[in-house]
Amino acid sequence: MKILVLNAGSSSVKYSLFAMHNHSVLVAGLIERIGEKQAVHRFNAAGAAQQMLEMEIANHQAALQELFRILSASGLLADSRDLACIGHRVVHGGEHFWQPALITPQVLAQITATIPLAPLHNPANLLGIQEAIKQMPIVPQVAVFDTAFHHTMPDYAYRYALPAEFYREQRVRRYGFHGTSHGYVAKLAAQFLGKPLAETNLITLHLGNGASVTAIENGKSVDTSMGLTPLEGVMMGTRCGDIDPAIIFYLGRTLNISNDAIETLLNKNSGCKGVCGENDMRSIHKLAESDNLEAKLALAMYAYRLKKYIGAYFAVLNRVDALVFTGGIGENDAWLRETCCANLSALGIDIDHEKNQTPLRPCADISASRVAVLVIKTDEELEIAIQAKQCLEAVV
Ligand code: ADP
Repeated sequence: MKILVLNAGSSSVKYSLFAMHNHSVLVAGLIERIGEKQAVHRFNAAGAAQQMLEMEIANHQAALQELFRILSASGLLADSRDLACIGHRVVHGGEHFWQPALITPQVLAQITATIPLAPLHNPANLLGIQEAIKQMPIVPQVAVFDTAFHHTMPDYAYRYALPAEFYREQRVRRYGFHGTSHGYVAKLAAQFLGKPLAETNLITLHLGNGASVTAIENGKSVDTSMGLTPLEGVMMGTRCGDIDPAIIFYLGRTLNISNDAIETLLNKNSGCKGVCGENDMRSIHKLAESDNLEAKLALAMYAYRLKKYIGAYFAVLNRVDALVFTGGIGENDAWLRETCCANLSALGIDIDHEKNQTPLRPCADISASRVAVLVIKTDEELEIAIQAKQCLEAVV
């Protein structure tokens, strides 16, 4: 059984084709700069060197045509009947979708209805789904939502202290994101610790370009740092994370700039990029090594804000079995792991300096303490494939 996972962004489509009997990736690729004259399609078939093609790709329709052309030409997908289903990443499922959903016209309408909650993400996700249906009409399509894992949060964690009608009528609440990653590493962490997931308490830190921290009690999300949108929470590559909301009115008044301009500023030009001019963590470390004070400040702020969330979620959970670092930064940045866990012995957290330098993949304990500190390689695409398969099995 093969499953294709699609993650359609506004100008890119990321994909992976899995053989589900052993969870191996047959081919994975990324089509970028959709809509530009020189779009780029990079892909890796198992065991082969990466290939790169440049061509004009006008829109998502052309991007999916290119993807299915490569899958067919490589012999990996000679016939659409070889495909059990296509799993689509959908960022926002609103309050409606707490589980993966087999796509039907009604489900499409419900995803469309969540666009006001995620105007930067859901329209592109929907385009990917609609094109996949057109080009592979006999293949079942499943939507897997980033928000779904967090549906177990209690109301006192997901409600904002705003007038109740904003929740009742506008559904303004904390939803949380990166759910496929938090859920996936939680399963692996429980396996690694040799405990049932339903008895495992974790603080998972997904640190990539976007970043979020989740408190997991008995295998379930009970709080998470991102909110109505992915802007809230810890400091990120280009997003500000938590700020005083009054800053928005202050900027609007004093600079006379629009809400849209402030939204772009907070999403695209803040976080590490705002503080030091760089958003890629490796570049920030390089700058800091050359004694750049702004880069040093960005690193210090990034680690400090993570540490505050670790402390807060310790208080939420009371007993913690492990901290779990994942995502490009969480998996690779030894300095950051050590810095945000420094001086936490009182909570039972101590990092083993040597183990932290080169943790074994895909899962390693780098702690020298009662609370394990795990570094786990996330695999959101595989988790989407697994959930899509389970959804399909449940409905047939
Ligand atoms: P995305 O959120 O887009 O999936 P990733 O999870 O791949 O992104 O994370 C990207 C981030 O990981 C970038 O900031 C990158 O600099 C950082 N990163 C990757 N490798 C390292 C490394 N060896 N040390 C520090 N940061 C790293």
